[in-house]
Amino acid sequence: MEANRKILVFVDLPAGELDETGKGLLSYGARLAKILGFSWGAVIPVPPVAEAQEEFGRYGTPSVTLLDGGAELLDLPAHLGSALAALVSETGATLLLLPHNDLGATLAPVAAAKLGSALMTETNSVKNLGSAVELSRQVLGVRLAETRSWDAEQPLVMTVPTRLLSQVLLPSVKPAVPELFVYELNSAPEGATAKVTVRIPPDPQTVDLVDAEVIFSAGKGCDPATFGQLKELCSLLNVSCGVTRPVYDLGYTGFERMVGQTGRTVTPRLYVALGISGSMHHVGGIKDSRRIVSVNLDPKAPIFPNSDEGFVADVKEILPRLIDRAKTAVGGAA
Ligand SMILES: Cc1cc2nc3c(=O)[nH]c(=O)nc-3n(C[C@H](O)[C@H](O)[C@H](O)COP(=O)(O)OP(=O)(O)OC[C@H]3O[C@@H](n4cnc5c(N)ncnc54)[C@H](O)[C@@H]3O)c2cc1C
Repeated sequence: MEANRKILVFVDLPAGELDETGKGLLSYGARLAKILGFSWGAVIPVPPVAEAQEEFGRYGTPSVTLLDGGAELLDLPAHLGSALAALVSETGATLLLLPHNDLGATLAPVAAAKLGSALMTETNSVKNLGSAVELSRQVLGVRLAETRSWDAEQPLVMTVPTRLLSQVLLPSVKPAVPELFVYELNSAPEGATAKVTVRIPPDPQTVDLVDAEVIFSAGKGCDPATFGQLKELCSLLNVSCGVTRPVYDLGYTGFERMVGQTGRTVTPRLYVALGISGSMHHVGGIKDSRRIVSVNLDPKAPIFPNSDEGFVADVKEILPRLIDRAKTAVGGAA
């Protein structure tokens, strides 16, 4: 592969600020550039506030390009996607990287179609094989792994699941003062047929568990009363609720809430296992969660070695206390 390849990382900067996803993308971009031996830079659709400018430097971002297209740019996906494609073409970039969130997943196919390039969504692994780059992702409800090979000769548009992003500052990445560029866009968008008028986040109570960010799950250690408390807690915290197979078999929930080998394979930021023993059939469906916290009466329960944090405790005692804390927090926030 030629050494003069470049990665452009799209960072949407809500209200000009660098949020968790933005920082995660910069950390990911820096790591990817190192793995592939490419140079890299960020692309932003709105001017950064002063604090965000400093953050770009902390992540060692070599350059930041502002797409100057007016305040409405973020609400015109066709225009913004075309602008990203034009920037890729003009700068000779090889890889356009976006987050796989609502905006990134909308822009990526537009940019790929404009560029006539390949599109790899929800990429969860990138390996430099020397002569090619191997890209992998999970498909069909995270049941199958798909691997593709990219020669890095033709441009590629790639999205990364936001749950895989971490804001870690790599010791090998030195802080930098990024070079700032402005890329002027046409004021009259061509072919912009859709405009975003409102953004509605998914409801954790109904979202498919495969896409859930935080899941609290009940095992057989939860009786019907405790399960009712868990549902109350989930609703207070606005997080998703899951169950093990025996709990599903008891008829507490529908099949779509069951987690594990037969049920959903989940990858949330946080998985809380309450009264779950940790059988291989259940753990197989949660092992790729970013953080697993478990509560079980039995200190020898197999869930503990599979957890980041474990508490030997009675869920019947824990849940009412968590509900009280959540009510105080929600009341305090109101
Ligand atoms: C082919 C096959 C596929 C399967 N697929 C799935 C699947 O997709 N998903 C799945 O979940 N299972 C699946 N199973 C079932 C699986 O093997 C286990 O039987 C199941 O996961 C156990 O569920 P559990 O942890 O809720 O119950 P248990 O194994 O009975 O564990 C209950 C736990 O609760 C603890 N406990 C009890 N009371 C309390 C309390 N008051 N406070 C705190 N802790 C307490 C106990 O110490 C115990 O560890 C499958 C099985 C087979 C054979």
